[in-house]
Amino acid sequence: MLSKKEKTIVIAGGGNAGISLAARLRRTHPHWRVRLVEPSDKHYYQPAWTMVGGGFYDVRKTVREMEKVIPSGVEWLKDAVVGFLPEKNHVILASGEKVYYDALVVALGIRLMWDAVKGLPETLGKNQVCSVYEFHLAAYTAECIRQFRGGRALFTAPDTPVKCGGAPQKIMYLAADAFQRRGLTAQHMNIEFWSGGTRVFAVEKYEKTLLRVIQRYGIQTHFRRRLEAVDGPGKKAVFRDISPEGEGRVFEESFDLLHVTPPQGPPQVVSSSPLADEKGWVAADKYTLQHPRWSNVFALGDCAGLPVSRTGAAIRKQVPVVVQNLEAVLSGTPPQARYNGYSSCPILTGKGRLVLAEFDYDLKPLETFPFDQSKERWSMFALKRYILPWLYWNKILTGKM
Ligand SMILES: Cc1cc2nc3c(=O)[nH]c(=O)nc-3n(C[C@H](O)[C@H](O)[C@H](O)COP(=O)(O)OP(=O)(O)OC[C@H]3O[C@@H](n4cnc5c(N)ncnc54)[C@H](O)[C@@H]3O)c2cc1C
Repeated sequence: MLSKKEKTIVIAGGGNAGISLAARLRRTHPHWRVRLVEPSDKHYYQPAWTMVGGGFYDVRKTVREMEKVIPSGVEWLKDAVVGFLPEKNHVILASGEKVYYDALVVALGIRLMWDAVKGLPETLGKNQVCSVYEFHLAAYTAECIRQFRGGRALFTAPDTPVKCGGAPQKIMYLAADAFQRRGLTAQHMNIEFWSGGTRVFAVEKYEKTLLRVIQRYGIQTHFRRRLEAVDGPGKKAVFRDISPEGEGRVFEESFDLLHVTPPQGPPQVVSSSPLADEKGWVAADKYTLQHPRWSNVFALGDCAGLPVSRTGAAIRKQVPVVVQNLEAVLSGTPPQARYNGYSSCPILTGKGRLVLAEFDYDLKPLETFPFDQSKERWSMFALKRYILPWLYWNKILTGKM
């Protein structure tokens, strides 16, 4: 067994998951050496990008210098992980350096696959083709919503897992609300949701409310439709019917505004590594978050191969589990702490209205507040708009919650 001092924890990725874990480890285990591998010099608060797209949040408030959020005492290796050698307890960096660990936590996030849609990379950020899934596109989304004067506004969701499953709809409801406030009615416009999924929301309690919201805004829904190509200058989007009975039918749709949620998947460095599960995510026990083959490797956040809704809220509950289980493994005992699949999605249904969905692995509601959270509320909007960003920068990233 290693002495306390000798333990080196390597964290791959300095996003929401990596930084909150690093900060918590500095508090709980100050004697451990924590090394964080992260190539970017910026850290983003992504949950606010829907509000930026909605036109009521300053995008500059969603980014900070990475050096400012890395907790003191954590060693920052400003480089990218390009490979894993778990049998040797090493990660390989782009510089060629091999970094040794006693325990590794992989927190590399999810990969946005813009280029899986033909013609999309060329037209993103132009021709009224926008997305709240990137920092540099969120403000353009607000501009497209402001400039919309009628016609067809299409909002897409892919048939892959995504981070924040509610985000493709949140921006649609915010847009619909903005259009209504400007006096646009069904005579002037169609708002349409083109989704690769099969339903609006997986938890029935919240879905009921969202179906009413969809009706209120007159939104048309199309399920099992995958966005395959975009012609920005021609204002055309091509969708494929991916339902078993659809026989691959293709639909060419005109648009005046197209909001795209890109297909998403595991980072390539993970899927091409021995750590990957059969779908390419970091393999992990769904309760302990421990890798099934290498006991000193853990998965955290969006890159973890868990049957979970990928959110920062989920990470808040995963981090303490990983901390406890790291301690167990490094002291030679089996991991005991368990994550129950908690996730939360604050679904903005308009400016000033929000449904706070919270649920677990079994899609059972797991609500924080002593009232029915499936109702649209201003108080929950205020939580998202004013309180959660503050908690993120001041409490979550500092390992205090
Ligand atoms: C539009 C939008 C709205 C959202 N809304 C909400 C919400 O309301 N509530 C909520 O809880 N969550 C929300 N989320 C989801 C939340 O932001 C993510 O779940 C969370 O950021 C995931 O954290 P992570 O650390 O796993 O990944 P990320 O935060 O994406 O961080 C991954 C990090 O890994 C780094 N990295 C990548 N490759 C390498 C490499 N090879 N080597 C080293 N480092 C690497 C990246 O630079 C990055 O810093 C939203 C996300 C979006 C995009």
